[in-house]
Amino acid sequence: MKLQFCGGAKTVTGSCFYVDTGKIKFIVDCGAFQGTKELDDLNYEPFPFNPAELDYVFLTHGHFDHCGRLPLLVKQGFKGRIITTQPSRDIARIVLLDAAGLQEEEYKRWSAKPKNGNGGNGGYGERGYGNHEVRPPMYTTDDVNELMTYFDVYPYGDSVDFRNGVEFRMRDAGHILGSAMFEFWLTNGDGRTRKVVFSGDLGQSGQRIVKDPDLVREADYVIVESTYGNRTHRNKDETLLEFLSILKDTQQRGGNVLIPSFAIERAQEIIYELNLFFENRLLADMPVYLDSPMASETVKIFRQFPNFYDEDAQRLLEKGDDPFHFAGFHETESAEDSKRLIDKRGCIIIAGSGMCTGGRILHHLENNIGSSRTSIVFVGYQVEGTLGRKIVDGEPEVYIKGKRMEVRAQVHTLGGFSAHADQNDLRYWLRGFGHTPRRVFMVHGEADVAQEFADTMKEELSVDTHVPSLNEVVTLE
Ligand SMILES: [Zn+2]
Ligand SMILES: [Zn+2]
Repeated sequence: MKLQFCGGAKTVTGSCFYVDTGKIKFIVDCGAFQGTKELDDLNYEPFPFNPAELDYVFLTHGHFDHCGRLPLLVKQGFKGRIITTQPSRDIARIVLLDAAGLQEEEYKRWSAKPKNGNGGNGGYGERGYGNHEVRPPMYTTDDVNELMTYFDVYPYGDSVDFRNGVEFRMRDAGHILGSAMFEFWLTNGDGRTRKVVFSGDLGQSGQRIVKDPDLVREADYVIVESTYGNRTHRNKDETLLEFLSILKDTQQRGGNVLIPSFAIERAQEIIYELNLFFENRLLADMPVYLDSPMASETVKIFRQFPNFYDEDAQRLLEKGDDPFHFAGFHETESAEDSKRLIDKRGCIIIAGSGMCTGGRILHHLENNIGSSRTSIVFVGYQVEGTLGRKIVDGEPEVYIKGKRMEVRAQVHTLGGFSAHADQNDLRYWLRGFGHTPRRVFMVHGEADVAQEFADTMKEELSVDTHVPSLNEVVTLE
């Protein structure tokens, strides 16, 4: 039995793992690489397997770094089925349509521009890497719509036996709504069965809305993420108290609170916390605007699947409280609606993109960053080189839409909102397997972080650990 690491190896993005049991071929995830020009280039490399020969794709969740290259499979002859949960299918659809739309738009804009030898200003929306030629879209809206006909959805907890040597069960990974880990019982041509577990992205324990990650008790091989394999998150309760006091202080100053946020999960989590602040009368008379059509779309998906919520969120529903709505909460639709927020004062605006690399947050920053009454609250990780990172790093002046602007706003970073397990959560999850795994592979982490985590776990659990390189092939005995 062969396992190949076709992405998410010594890097966080591009998750894709190819398995050939000798009878059946499948992959787990088919994510896009993101972050730098070099990583983006990998999206245009051919797959190290033939998509036309794949029987299945198992999708752990709807984030772009796990689903972003799915439409390419179909374009290259994939005829199998894509297996995931209902929310993951619907979230993947939103994410992929957004990506296709951005690529089409950017390419159209770039193609229409007179060329001056500089090759345009490069990059697709979130992925602006400076001056390089904008490539044709990897796929279009039509390709995404075609892809959606290949999905089959299953609930958590049911063992499904395809009677071809592949049996699987999805468990709750507690990362974003519908996120799954996969347990596989794989039988090769000689009739030997091995249990292989893919963690997908694991959530932080105690995270809002979603449940804590399920524990798995036994496996021959484990493929585990390691994004935060070398650090622990800040305490969630402290984060919430800090958040509340920032909101109150800004209200007193008569300023606006800007929250740059990712559209999937993070935005819903922030709305969830704000709902509790307002419903519990910790805060009042401070209008909240969700200025992100993609986040609004995702709220709709969250509303459709309350059975995927954790106990606390379900209890709110039972009490008759909609966790994603409260008095003073507004959602903007059109770009005109968004621009009308310019005159507002004393309000909270949640907008994308999460790292201020594009989207509606830009005109809100343009409008507010020069005022000392404003608070900018970062609730997610800011990659080096992004506008968000520059603001977090305290640069006195930044460029917004080509205009130099003085940063007079108060800048805050809230560390407790991560949707990823930290080292303690990962350790707890891995301990669930006891000494049963023959080998544990650390993926979905930067090389040094994954290695540190691998070394720590090797010592603590006395199991064999390994950090695979990109495209490395291993045999599962
Ligand atoms: Zn994820
Ligand atoms: Zn991921």
